[in-house]
Amino acid sequence: MEYKRSSALFAEAQKVIPGGVNSPVRAFKAVGGTPIFVKEAKGAYIIDEDDKQYIEYINSWGPMILGHAHKPVIDAVVEKAKKGTSFGMPTEIETKIAELAVSMVPNIDMIRFVNSGTEACMSAVRLARGYTGKDKMIKFAGCYHGHSDAFLIQAGSGAVTFGSPNSPGVTQGTAKDTLLARYNDLENVKEIILQNEGEIACIIIEPVAGNMGCIPPVAGFLEGLRALCDEHNILLVFDEVMTGFRLAKGGVQELLGIHADIVCFGKVIGGGLPVGAFAARKEIMSYLAPLGPVYQAGTLSGNPLAMAAGLAMLEELNAKDEIFTSLQKKTEYLHKGIAEVLTAANVTHQINRIGSMISVHFCEEPVIDFASSAKGNNDSFKKFFHGLLDKGIYIAPSAFETWFLSDALSYEDLDKTIQAVKEVAGEL
Ligand SMILES: *Cc1c(COP(=O)(O)O)cnc(C)c1O
Repeated sequence: MEYKRSSALFAEAQKVIPGGVNSPVRAFKAVGGTPIFVKEAKGAYIIDEDDKQYIEYINSWGPMILGHAHKPVIDAVVEKAKKGTSFGMPTEIETKIAELAVSMVPNIDMIRFVNSGTEACMSAVRLARGYTGKDKMIKFAGCYHGHSDAFLIQAGSGAVTFGSPNSPGVTQGTAKDTLLARYNDLENVKEIILQNEGEIACIIIEPVAGNMGCIPPVAGFLEGLRALCDEHNILLVFDEVMTGFRLAKGGVQELLGIHADIVCFGKVIGGGLPVGAFAARKEIMSYLAPLGPVYQAGTLSGNPLAMAAGLAMLEELNAKDEIFTSLQKKTEYLHKGIAEVLTAANVTHQINRIGSMISVHFCEEPVIDFASSAKGNNDSFKKFFHGLLDKGIYIAPSAFETWFLSDALSYEDLDKTIQAVKEVAGEL
């Protein structure tokens, strides 16, 4: 398959943008080949610069839960833009979206808007440290919380004590306060807490992991973390940047009935514009400047265009409960269809799914944490990815990424996808 114009645009881009992209995973490094450049998108489809159309399963890595160029969102942004795009002064719409978000999400009284999921997570951890007066945090191997220094930490072999940085530029000083645990392994978390008694401010977690494939928590894991946090005076931070307003109106807290102390948002909450947010009960949020001593700020935070897009998106999701059921059914249908054709073709695989998040792994053992996810056969994934791409199905260009369904997908689109998987399966 030729991607002529995309290839030319990529060559140009590489001269002036490192790697030709503004975020690394777009560069197709994990799967090889040339990234396709998007010309436009509508509903469940994107059209590339070579005028080829694709059925879409990334949806901007999550935000476009109702499909691309969704009319109420676009209209809201266009109307808002006519009245000025940024003031650095308060606007009414910020309160409106805050009220709506607080009404949709359990256990939060106040919310602060920022410009990305990264900012939301780094601010949430600062707040947790300021509130508890403690320095350390526990994060889980394979969980992504944005690219802020303290999160770019990976275990040495089996290390359960101090993390070491996995990006140059992250100092040892920063890394020493990030303790690394294994996802879905409560005993491991207990051990780390006991070794660092009295020093841990928070545990930050993707309550359903989406950055090592889709990995739901095993039964009792989140409940166990909640109990440990209560027992040891640690704040539980749910990074719901991916899952918030996607798995349910109130995210994983609502879906699984677990109470977090601080919740981070991004992706869906911005309706496709750059928005992040973090939220908690009033007592904790009152520690934030200008009410309290923990500093956090942003020139473009609460930007009117971004708030207009986010508000239009949340209003739709709030008004139509059936969206979540519809998405769940579509994802289940896709899961079943893909499992059938892969099994029929004797392709060893695992499929993980919850709500509208799904991932396909080419390995024998269940995928429950980073180590099991990393066992997937990347050669099979590459063939799978490029086979689907050529057939007009766009999934994320990495085996560690989750597919995000949008409600714009029709059952006909899903059938076409399953048929494409069937054709590709023969070559795996
Ligand atoms: C995408 C993501 C982030 C980072 O959000 P950005 O807007 O890319 O900075 C943080 N946490 C999770 C769980 C994410 O999926």
